[in-house]
Formats: sequence, structure tokens, C-alpha cells
Amino acid sequence: MVTSVSILGATGSIGTSTLNLIRDGNFRVVALTANSDAKKLASLAKEFGAEIAAVSDEAAYPELKSALAGTQIRALASATGMAEAAAAKSDILLSAIVGAAGLAPTIAGFASGRKIALANKECLVTAGSLFMREAQKKNATVLPVDSEHNAVFQALACGRRDAVRKVTLTASGGPFRTMSRERLAVVTPEEAVRHPNWSMGAKISIDSATLMNKGLELIEAAYLFDLAPSQLDVLIHPQSVVHALVEFHDGSVVAQMAHPDMRIPIGFCLAWPERLAWDAPKLDLAKLGALHFEAPDYDRFPSLRLARNALEAGGGAPNVLNAANEVAIEAFRARRLSFDGIPGLVEAVLTQAGKEGLLREVSTVNDALGVDHVARSIAATLLPQFAAKAS
Ligand code: NAD
Ligand code: MG
Repeated sequence: MVTSVSILGATGSIGTSTLNLIRDGNFRVVALTANSDAKKLASLAKEFGAEIAAVSDEAAYPELKSALAGTQIRALASATGMAEAAAAKSDILLSAIVGAAGLAPTIAGFASGRKIALANKECLVTAGSLFMREAQKKNATVLPVDSEHNAVFQALACGRRDAVRKVTLTASGGPFRTMSRERLAVVTPEEAVRHPNWSMGAKISIDSATLMNKGLELIEAAYLFDLAPSQLDVLIHPQSVVHALVEFHDGSVVAQMAHPDMRIPIGFCLAWPERLAWDAPKLDLAKLGALHFEAPDYDRFPSLRLARNALEAGGGAPNVLNAANEVAIEAFRARRLSFDGIPGLVEAVLTQAGKEGLLREVSTVNDALGVDHVARSIAATLLPQFAAKAS
């Protein structure tokens, strides 16, 4: 049977890996979206015979429209176009936009019986309770693409939920795992995007370097699997072979292993509940010889501590943390903020947001996006103080 798939964020790293699998499999593409790269989007839509192509950035619409002239593919744009593309009927919606921008289109794609293959972790960090509640209400199944969560999903199948004691997410430690605090203060964006094991988009690569990525993933796991913060742990594992471990009450620990290649968890989601038969890279443990583990260093990587605190605080704290982090990453990439200024700014925004009463739970997507918006403007206001410290 042919499986139909739509991809939000088709031009990115996850989108590209997904299309690589789709190219060789029994799939049909329905809708593809991108932020503003109309040329690349149009070329993918033509190659895969999509029905719909949508750009989020309205300014890119004329280019998309003319690139698709003479084809049957519908060109759409802006928030309404993204929502329409997301809602177009298909078996699977793969959500791979980066950042909180993925929240509204992903929720617009919830439909009964539909599989939501979720790569966009910021959705769950921005509005975790709301997101999972809406999915349940609409009877959509959320399948985690994020490799650690995909591993947890697989390991959880080995026992009852009330027998789970602890869930541990592994982290590679990023490119600066062994770097001194002094050296960390002066790393460049070019150094930060060079991940040792994974090839990913710029934002998640920098999040991996600060360990904020693992912090966001703790929050993602708490909402996805309905776990208490005390049940969640992080373990540094530089080889990225063991992706997560689930400990049950009887002392058994079930781990999932795979070669670090995002096509493996993506393929899992595309085929679930079956298994995708493809020429996946093999794991050669004899060649590896040993697996290395160590505890995370919360002092050198304060972003992880900030995320854990936000998870424990709950309510709007993860949303504010995420918004501040997105602003901080942009500023770091533009060389307006030092690497160690990233957690500095995030912490200051959380403090200010607390004073402004923004850390409460919200009940609608619009409210969540409203908090996101205010947190971003607080971050923009505070940025110059931290930027000054950067030079
Ligand atoms: P990327 O930057 O490579 O791609 C992002 C995609 O989103 C692009 O198609 C871009 O056009 C689109 N986009 C960006 N801003 C947008 C906006 N404002 N509105 C609409 N579309 C927009 O990112 P990526 O590395 O593919 O990551 C995507 C998501 O998957 C992130 O949430 C990331 O945390 C998560 N993830 C990625 C990996 C990985 O290996 N890359 C692994 C696990 C989870
Ligand atoms: Mg991950």
C-alpha cells in the first residue's frame, strides 16, 4: 500500500533526510512547505509530484507561483497557506519546521487517525500540555522523530507505563564537551555548528553545543510521555550509539541503539507500526570496541540547568525559555552575543518574565504564541546589555 506524506519544513535537514527515504520507498507526497526558499521548494514539489507547495514568507510567493506555472501543483503562502498545506489529507504529517514557528501549522494538521511524525521539539516546549491534549482530542498519533524520543518510544514498548522508574536521554556532549570555561566563552558560530556525530540545521547544532538541545529534549520527553521531571535524566555518551534508556521497576534497563543517522528514526515513523526495510547504515559494535558514558557538567553548560529548572517550574516557563533561546541563538549567529551570553540572556529573560506574570499555563495556541512574542521582545530589550559584555 502506498503511504501518503506531507512535510512541514521540507527544505531543511530533517526534510531532506525524509525525502531521501521517500525517494526510494512506496510513498506519495501530498504537501511540502518551506520558509522562504521558493526555488528549492518548487523543485522538490516537482520532483516528488506534490499536490501543494507552501511558503511561510509571503514575499517568496511570486517566485513560488512562477516556478510552478504550468504544473498542477497549488502554490500557497503565509500562515493560512501553511495551515492549509498541513491540513491537506495524507496518512502522515512530518513536522520539521525549526522553532516555535512549527506550532500552529503542526496543530492545524491534527486529524483523526493521522500520524504526526514530530521532529519539531519546540512545539512541545512552547505548549506541551496543549499540544498533547489537542492531539488526543483529534485522535492523531504523535510519533517522535527526535532520535532520543524515538528510542524511548521503542523501549517503552517493553513494559507497562506504571512500571517505568526512569527515562534517560543520552547526549553527545556536542563539539565543546571537554572545553574549558574560558575557551567556551570565546567560541565562534562556525565552531558551534560543527557537530561531531550529526549533520543538522544551524539552530539545533548550536543548541547541541550549549546542551540546551538536551534541556529542550527533557521538556519534550516530559510532555510526550507524561513523565514527572524526577523521572527524567541525562547521560553524556559521545558516540551517540545508545539513544535513550528506560529503567523499569524490576531493575531492567532497556536501551535502543542505532548508528547515528536521522533516517533511522524518520524511517521508523514513516513505517510505524511496521518496520521500514531499507539499506540502513549498520551498527558495528566490535569495531567501536567500547561505549563511553559520563555525567553532564551543569556548571560548564548552564543552559541544561536552566531548561531543567523551567521543566520543574512548568506553566509558561519552558515557553519563555524557548523564545529567549531562539533570540539568543540568532544573536550569537549574528555575532551580537558571545557563546556564554546565550544562557546569560535566557536566564535574565526568565527572571523578567516572572516579574511580568508570564510564567503561567496557557490554554490556547494564540495565548502560547502571545507569551512567545512577549518573551522575544523582553529578550530583544535585554540583549544590548549582554551584547556589550560579548566584546
Ligand atoms: P533546518 O534549519 O535544517 O530546517 C528548518 C526547516 O523549517 C526549513 O525547511 C525551513 O524552510 C523551515 N522554516 C524555518 N523557519 C520557518 C518559519 N518561520 N516558518 C515556516 N518554516 C520555517 O532545521 P532541522 O535541523 O531540519 O530541524 C528541524 C526541527 O527538527 C527542529 O525543531 C529540530 O530541533 C528538530 N530535530 C532536528 C534534528 C536534525 O538532525 N536536524 C534531529 C532531531 C530533531
Ligand atoms: Mg535529539
